[in-house]
Amino acid sequence: MGKKKLKAGLFSMTCCEGCVFALFELNQMFPKILDFVEIVESRVLRETNPEQELDIAFVEGAIVSRGEIEKLEKIRERTKFLVALGACATIAGIPGQRNALPEKIQAQLQSKAIKKPLDSVHKLSDFVKVDFELQGCSISHSEFLRVLLQFYHKFIPRLEDIPVCKECKENQNQCLLLKGIPCLGPVTYAGCDALCPTQNAQCIGCRGFTKDANFESLRDLFREMNVSEQEIKNLFTYFNADPFKKEAKNNA
Ligand code: SF4
Ligand code: SF4
Ligand code: SF4
Repeated sequence: MGKKKLKAGLFSMTCCEGCVFALFELNQMFPKILDFVEIVESRVLRETNPEQELDIAFVEGAIVSRGEIEKLEKIRERTKFLVALGACATIAGIPGQRNALPEKIQAQLQSKAIKKPLDSVHKLSDFVKVDFELQGCSISHSEFLRVLLQFYHKFIPRLEDIPVCKECKENQNQCLLLKGIPCLGPVTYAGCDALCPTQNAQCIGCRGFTKDANFESLRDLFREMNVSEQEIKNLFTYFNADPFKKEAKNNA
């Protein structure tokens, strides 16, 4: 192989580390991936080279503490390209559910914490420039490969602003809304090949909300379907506590 391998680092903030493990699965499926990339830093592989400059850093997890902000800033300083990996890193995801709790409960949690966390849970782009967001819980193997190869060939990958419904229709699924099942496909970024609806399960928004998402109309439809207010709130905030809260405030 003529070209130099990319020097990559894998980093984890607050999360289950499932996205980094998805990368290791990918390595088993496509061992040739190591023709393109050399992993120079990874907690799981016990590789530590803190002084090494990186071509690309993959960072999973949400930011919950000052220590994580500092760690993230240091990663940003030493890498040319930073990719947020998975729902926790791109939209605060499951750890971000704390942001949707009533303020009284949040205050109780804060008071019981051994180490004081930040007031709310954050996605990476709240603190540093993120060059690309690989969405999902966990990430999609094929999307990861595409982004890696694009970067290797010096293309800048971009996010397609299309909802899950488009892929769901391409798969010729019967719409779950017609069966009275609330589904977030109309407001969620595509890219997972409509994984959940294709298996008859509602989309719960793990790839984040599209820029022009029409929450109001979808919420009205859920109400017409007799979905309870609590269930609607749970569905909208399962992965996306922040956008839902902002949107709710705007409509207050
Ligand atoms: S996005 Fe999902 S799989 Fe990835 S680290 Fe977060 S919780 Fe785990
Ligand atoms: S099942 Fe969900 S994703 Fe599929 S078309 Fe209906 S609303 Fe969209
Ligand atoms: S269908 Fe929705 S919840 Fe399921 S993987 Fe795709 S974006 Fe995530």
